Amino acid sequence: MIRHILILLAAVFALAGPSFAQTPAPGLSALAQLDPARSSIHQGGGQTDIALGISQPVPYRAYLLADPYRLVVDFREVNFTGHDPRALLGKVSTITDLRWGAFRPGWSRMVAELSRPMVLVSAEERSGDTPQIRLSLRAVPAADFKAKQGAADSALWGLPQPAEVATPHRRQDGSRPLKIVLDPGHGGLDPGAQDGGLREADIVLGFARQLRDKLRRAGMTVVMTRDQDVFVPLETRVTVARATGADLFISLHADSIAEGVATGATIYRLADHAEDEATRKLVARHDRDDILAGVDLEGQGDQVAHILVDLARRETQPRSVRVAQVLAGAIKTEGLKMHKHPVQGANFSVLKSPDIPSVLIELGFLSSAADRKRLRDPDWRARMVDAITRGVLAWAQSDAAEAKLLRQ
Ligand SMILES: [Zn+2]
Repeated sequence: MIRHILILLAAVFALAGPSFAQTPAPGLSALAQLDPARSSIHQGGGQTDIALGISQPVPYRAYLLADPYRLVVDFREVNFTGHDPRALLGKVSTITDLRWGAFRPGWSRMVAELSRPMVLVSAEERSGDTPQIRLSLRAVPAADFKAKQGAADSALWGLPQPAEVATPHRRQDGSRPLKIVLDPGHGGLDPGAQDGGLREADIVLGFARQLRDKLRRAGMTVVMTRDQDVFVPLETRVTVARATGADLFISLHADSIAEGVATGATIYRLADHAEDEATRKLVARHDRDDILAGVDLEGQGDQVAHILVDLARRETQPRSVRVAQVLAGAIKTEGLKMHKHPVQGANFSVLKSPDIPSVLIELGFLSSAADRKRLRDPDWRARMVDAITRGVLAWAQSDAAEAKLLRQ
């Protein structure tokens, strides 16, 4: 069974192989378009057949992952804009969810969440007048499913490996410009919360660009984990912060919360677990979105690494708490609406850099009409950008003073 799958995967890779080159073939425009009229998903005869009509053939590869079971298909860029993937699902019961969109610059991804373990029985791409990618899946017993079948690792995408960039970090003491990593949440095939016509991924990217410009004008060096509508794995966001040698990591979000009424800005710093049920669900949803998009967060098994990480965290943790408090103070001073518990602890994956003070700011909640109005208001945004900038400067000063004291 497994050999069968491997051969199929090899065939898929062979298809993609030569055309992984950067330039499209002559006469083809750079971007393939999805044609929903020639796209369908059918279930019958023990198989689930997926057909995607596209404007031109593209290199692609398909593979299956477990926990949860899902089919991941990566394409040399296909424009899915404006097409709702769920419209294809109809009465299909073997696929419980479908999402697609930009993944990395030049690449798109489709993820089909499966209700049971399945394998690819065929994968072909038709060219000619009506190019189409056709994939057929068949259910198998869980024991037959080889987990992580052909999983994409970050090396494949030319991303830095965490181990390669884990350089010793020197704490800032005011003697050089502050390095800030801004992390607009979500992006690409992960739109984040969607409410009242707004997408969290767009809102936080726009806000991050404004904040970046302001922080730069204040003399800081700023690196963004993404500056386009692309998917960035949670692990990569942390890796970017470490590779940059960041003094401070700020993740920006504007989520929806179904439970109760959440409104106003909230600042999270790392804690072992979230303090309330709504936050626990928020953390779980972010990790789930990341896992569904195809990248597993790997646990570090190494004992020594664990101890070093714990030691670093013991120094960093109070600094993160201080960042959260100072930022909350600055936002309050500016007279902007804050959550009734403005500073909270939660175990968001992006806050886990052991040696970089890290906070996650929920600018507001898309589930709240009042927050949506604020998030859209240019005046509110400008004041929030100002408040965060003032907060960062104030924190950096007291943090540098503490660093000098500790060194004496
Ligand atoms: Zn979010």
